[in-house]
Amino acid sequence: MKKDDILISKFIGNTPLRYCDALSTRYHTNIFIKEEFHNPGMSAKDRPALFMIKDAIAKKKIKPGGFFVEASSGNTGLGISLIAKKLGYRAKIFVSQSCSEEKIELLLKAGAEIEICENSNGLHDFNSTQFRAQSFAATHPNTYFTNQYYNTQNIRAHYKTTAPEIWEQTAGTITHFIAGVGTGGTISGVGRFLKEQRSGIKVWGIEPNGSILSHFLRYRTLPTNTVSFDSIEGIGRNFVPGSFDAAAIDHIFQVNCQETRHMAMEYYTQTGIMTGFSSAAVIASLDSYVSKMCFKLTDKVVLFFPDHGSRYISKLYKGSAHQSIASSNITSS
Ligand code: PMP
Repeated sequence: MKKDDILISKFIGNTPLRYCDALSTRYHTNIFIKEEFHNPGMSAKDRPALFMIKDAIAKKKIKPGGFFVEASSGNTGLGISLIAKKLGYRAKIFVSQSCSEEKIELLLKAGAEIEICENSNGLHDFNSTQFRAQSFAATHPNTYFTNQYYNTQNIRAHYKTTAPEIWEQTAGTITHFIAGVGTGGTISGVGRFLKEQRSGIKVWGIEPNGSILSHFLRYRTLPTNTVSFDSIEGIGRNFVPGSFDAAAIDHIFQVNCQETRHMAMEYYTQTGIMTGFSSAAVIASLDSYVSKMCFKLTDKVVLFFPDHGSRYISKLYKGSAHQSIASSNITSS
C-alpha cells in the first residue's frame, strides 16, 4: 500500500457513537447517534467512495491522471473528489439541481469538475445524473464510472466498516438501527451484518413521502402512480437501486419534508447540534411513528447521521433558530 493510501484509509471511518440524552429522555429509551460527519469529507459516503476507488485501481480499470466519474447528491462526489485527488486521479461529478450551494462549493474546492443536471431519475432518463455520468465515462478514455447505485463495493464498505464499528461500540447490545435510504448502501450493508450477528435486531429505513422503496419492500412491486417525492437531500428514490438489499431491511417509514425541516431547527435550538437534512428526517420519523416503533426502556437504538447541518445552512438553518421555534419539548442536550 502506498503512503497516501494509508493516510486516507486511516482517517476514514472509526467515527464516534454518542449517547443522546435529549432524544433518550424524549422517547423513553436509549438512543445513540453514529456521527459520520467526523469523516474527512464530513460524510458517511467517504466509506463507499474509498472502497469503490480502491477496487477500480486494484482491478486496473483506470490509470493515474484519469477521471473517476459519479452521479451524486454531493456527499459521494466529495468523498470521491478528495480521495481521487490524493491518489493522483481526477473527479467528474454530475449533481442534481437540488444539491445545496454549500455542497457545490465543497466539490469545487476539492478540485472536482462538476455538471449540474435537471434531475436524478435513474439510468433510463437521459437528463439524469446517472445517465449523464455513464455516458461521459463511456465516451471518454481513462475514465471510470464508480456507479454507487449498482457498485457492490457500496454495500461492502458499510458491511466491512460501519456495521462492525457499531457492533463493537454497543458491545453487541444494539436492538434497532435506523437510517435514511438513498442508494440503500448504508442500510443494506449495516443491516446485513447486524442480522448475521443477531436476527432479531430491527433495521428500519427512512425515506421521504412519495419515494417508492417502502412500497417495494412491502409488496416487491413498483407503485403504479408515483411521479415525484419530497425533496430531502440524499434520500428517496423512484427506482430500486442495485445497492438496495430488501432482505437486510425490516421496514421503511416515510416522513414529510416540512416536518423534517421543523425537526432540524427544533433539535438545533434545543441541543445546539446542527444535523444534516436526512439526519433530521430520521429524528422526525421518531416523532411521527414512535407509538408504532414501541421502544422499550432497555432498548439500544442507533440513529445514523450521515452528514452535518453546516452543508444545509442555505436550505435548513437560515434565520434565527429562536425566532422559528417556540414549542419544543426536547429537554436536554
Ligand atoms: N443522507 C445523505 C445526506 C446522503 O448523502 C446519503 C447518500 N445518498 C444518504 C443519506 C443515503 O445513504 P445511502 O446512499 O447509503 O442509502
